[in-house]
Amino acid sequence: YRQGEDDRVGLNKITVELTTEPKKKPENSQLSFGKYFTDHMFIMDYDAGVGWHDPRIVPYQPISLDPAAKVFHYGQTVFEGMKAYRTPEGPVLLFRPYKNLQRLNRSNARLSIPSIDENLVMDALKQLIQVDKDWIPDEQGTSLYIRPFVISTQATLGVSPSEKYMFMIILSPVGSYYEEGINPVNIYVESEYVRAVTGGIGNAKTGGNYAAGLKAQQEATEKGYSQVLWLDGVHRKYIEEVGSMNVFFKVGDKVLTPALNGSILDGVTRDSVIRLLKHWNITVEERTISIDELVAAYREGTLEEAFGTGTAAVISPIGELNWQGDKLTLNGGNTGPLAARIYDFMTGLQRGLQEDPFGWIE
Ligand code: PMP
Repeated sequence: YRQGEDDRVGLNKITVELTTEPKKKPENSQLSFGKYFTDHMFIMDYDAGVGWHDPRIVPYQPISLDPAAKVFHYGQTVFEGMKAYRTPEGPVLLFRPYKNLQRLNRSNARLSIPSIDENLVMDALKQLIQVDKDWIPDEQGTSLYIRPFVISTQATLGVSPSEKYMFMIILSPVGSYYEEGINPVNIYVESEYVRAVTGGIGNAKTGGNYAAGLKAQQEATEKGYSQVLWLDGVHRKYIEEVGSMNVFFKVGDKVLTPALNGSILDGVTRDSVIRLLKHWNITVEERTISIDELVAAYREGTLEEAFGTGTAAVISPIGELNWQGDKLTLNGGNTGPLAARIYDFMTGLQRGLQEDPFGWIE
């Protein structure tokens, strides 16, 4: 893809239609997660035999779909989540954006959705952010959440890959993901429900995985926990993820995190934290970790910290793990020093306040 040059049929030219009715922007204090949307959105269509076409930035607006559109029935859909940050000096930064677009295409492949052109979408994303840049909040902890997604739109009830799709990007100014901020959260280790299994769609970012998790989340909330820790669906004892985050444990002088086994998401934050820890000469083991191993480490006093990682919260320390009624309190229920060090580095990098040894900032 080369905008302008390789555009013989005009399919790849991104057009821009600006809104004539800009919305009132929320105050920083009103921001929560994903509640407000900017003035514009990006759309591109797919038709079998034509490919992706008509990439366009248009005013943010509802879309109209046939009730038979496949997405409503069979969930053939994928999404991504990333953020743009405003730096104190003004420039807008993205954090490893190609990692998200590559993951989008891996999710597409798993859901039998045609791949998107990562360079074209990157170009579209930058243009869209430029158009709506006044929407990016500037207070510490705030950012512009970016939600690219694909839905299958063919109006046919047969269970087969759709021949029509829409790809869209919407933008939402957000505050901190958890109202608690970097404060530790309490986690319920889930032993009844499972989120995904190897061979299924757990490593794709697709709606079904999140729908599958709602019930456990709801029950954990009723018990006073903010997220669940998922165990694997086969042995029902190996650690997978925490809510919609990857999870890390500091045991003695090592850091453990579940290996990418096909049922968990390959988090961009996870990969970044692993690389950062290695850069700091801290040993990281990516492997299977059983809940029994963690409980044993806790009893021995070597389970020092646990934290989740993800774009939304960056680092989310775990203050308590409830395993079948046993309450394991980690680091006295406070944010541990390692979680705090990683959080400071990552958020400093994202706000342009920290030297970028990895070339992650765009
Ligand atoms: N696991 C799941 C299930 C998720 O939805 C997310 C959020 N994308 C993550 C892990 C963390 O991934 P990332 O660091 O790329 O945000």
